Amino acid sequence: MADRTFVIVGASLTAATAAATLRGSGFDGRLIMLGDEPHEPYERPGLSKAYLRGEEPAEELFVRPPGWWEEQEIEVRLGTVVERVDPRGGAVTFGDGGSIPFDAALVATGVRNRVLDVPGAGLDGVLQLRRIPDADAIRARALGASRVVIVGMGFIGAEVAASLRQLGVEVTIVELFGTALFRILGTRIGSVVELIHRDHGVELVFGDDVERFEGSGRVERVITRRGRSIACDLVVVGIGTEPNVEVMAGEGLDEPGGIRVDAVLRTEFPNVFAAGDVATHDHPVFGKIRVEHFDNAIKMGEHVAGAMLGSDAPFDDPHWFWSDQYDSEIQMGGVSLTDDMVLRGSLDERRFCAFFLDPAGVLRACVSLDWPRDVRRALPLIRREVAPDRAALLDPGVDLRTLDPARA
Ligand SMILES: Cc1cc2nc3c(=O)[nH]c(=O)nc-3n(C[C@H](O)[C@H](O)[C@H](O)COP(=O)(O)OP(=O)(O)OC[C@H]3O[C@@H](n4cnc5c(N)ncnc54)[C@H](O)[C@@H]3O)c2cc1C
Repeated sequence: MADRTFVIVGASLTAATAAATLRGSGFDGRLIMLGDEPHEPYERPGLSKAYLRGEEPAEELFVRPPGWWEEQEIEVRLGTVVERVDPRGGAVTFGDGGSIPFDAALVATGVRNRVLDVPGAGLDGVLQLRRIPDADAIRARALGASRVVIVGMGFIGAEVAASLRQLGVEVTIVELFGTALFRILGTRIGSVVELIHRDHGVELVFGDDVERFEGSGRVERVITRRGRSIACDLVVVGIGTEPNVEVMAGEGLDEPGGIRVDAVLRTEFPNVFAAGDVATHDHPVFGKIRVEHFDNAIKMGEHVAGAMLGSDAPFDDPHWFWSDQYDSEIQMGGVSLTDDMVLRGSLDERRFCAFFLDPAGVLRACVSLDWPRDVRRALPLIRREVAPDRAALLDPGVDLRTLDPARA
């Protein structure tokens, strides 16, 4: 392998994990990681949590300590925008006409924030959160703000709201749907999250949308479609993301909205792979999916390194993520909820693990609030498509591991 060159596009969690795994697995060829941000690979979850609140220094965010990449002889080129990954020519190319030939390439370009295209969106004080400087700007401005309006109550919006309330900032959220986190967690669980935020003093405006931002030079108020006027001096927009697929534009791989890979994480070009937030993969249980989670970035990064070295094993992780808001922790296993919910614990007491079954009784997903152990134990059941006994799911005294036929 010593004469081979592997190029990784993107220098974030997936890329970093893949590079470290390749070296750790004995790959001794040239390994180059190209990222457009100015920072070495870092973890984003803290940007809406401890780092945003100023409780964690930036050094804590970095995936590896200073000097580690050089020690491993991994070339990390920062501030470098890759224009195109050319699978036929076997090279990545740059806007200045330069290129780097590769024997194998990994596309780990992640996602970017969706832009809110309304009048006034360009005013000073209308911000988004994705990178370290975004978190720095939000913290600096929020601390002096009389009110912050957050647009969108997905996970980023909800976490930013929680962190800003913890800093004592007044927060209003404007959300199109009728409750919090509706798209991922649905009405029943979203309503519990909504109550947690109301208890912490967040003003919630549901079923409404931003019509425009107003202010002279700097944002001063949000005008909603239903005619509300909310005075504020800072806005944080968190209305979702879109995958960075442009480096492979024209190759017919961006379907549906991500770079398409097979179960092994390989594109239809045998030496080009994609992983992490950008990859729409062919999952043995869930079918074609693309997920945007920290744990998935690590697991896919590890897996794709094996694939680049020739493994044909499918990536069958059941997917898991968490979200911290105030002193509550949400966890989810699986990728989408079904209508049939079996509840262990209590929604009213805000401590539960909810299991979601398909019409055949197969466990497809679970969501917990401050009940983390059972999500971990449910993951093997989801992966193996087990149809557990409903009474056993309901009973907190039943250890979920006993419901796994593979362990019986
Ligand atoms: C504020 C925040 C909080 C989060 N909290 C959680 C959480 O609590 N739990 C959880 O499970 N997940 C969380 N996530 C999601 C998690 O951080 C992502 O799933 C993870 O970062 C995905 O890693 P990635 O490497 O695939 O993509 P990304 O982190 O998006 O990285 C892709 C990198 O590629 C770069 N790039 C793109 N195009 C090019 C190009 N053409 N040339 C060069 N470089 C390029 C991008 O700029 C970026 O640096 C959070 C995300 C954010 C933003």
